[in-house]
Amino acid sequence: MKAIYPGSFDPVTYGHLDIIERAAKVVDELIIGVLVNSAKNPLFTREERVKLIEETTGHIPNVKVKTFEGLTIDFAKQNGANLIIRGLRAVTDFETEMQIAQTNHSIEPEVDTMFFTTSLEYAFLSSTIVKEVAHYGSDVSKMVPPAVVDALQAKK
Ligand code: ADP
Repeated sequence: MKAIYPGSFDPVTYGHLDIIERAAKVVDELIIGVLVNSAKNPLFTREERVKLIEETTGHIPNVKVKTFEGLTIDFAKQNGANLIIRGLRAVTDFETEMQIAQTNHSIEPEVDTMFFTTSLEYAFLSSTIVKEVAHYGSDVSKMVPPAVVDALQAKK
């Protein structure tokens, strides 16, 4: 089974890594898709985001990192993936995620979405929160891997 895990990953957090590690155990191949959205203004470039994910997932043999633009469902099809992985933190994620999953399934019935519920210790974590905390100089070492701590420091 081949799966994609799409997201902005600006930057990757321990919440994402938890989902990546768990998903990699249940699929044969996991492609992390870094979304390049020209309408968004990310803190990290696409190359930086890819490098940070590669550095922190290097120990998982069946994980690959790619970038994509446009629709997630097209990225899944281009890569021959039959599964989309998403993480759910709280009920607030559920409504939009369900809508996206149903849309994708109606466009391409061969591709399904599988949700992993967040581990409790990461339920509050988002890339936005991490950037905010780091911006004001607080410690983010419990939220992101060391390479990301350094990269955030370098952006200040
Ligand atoms: P997007 O901009 O598509 O929401 P993100 O990089 O914020 O991209 O998230 C990618 C995926 O990871 C989403 O499915 C999101 O719900 C999930 N995710 C993000 N943070 C966490 C977390 N702390 N625990 C579990 N899943 C998470």
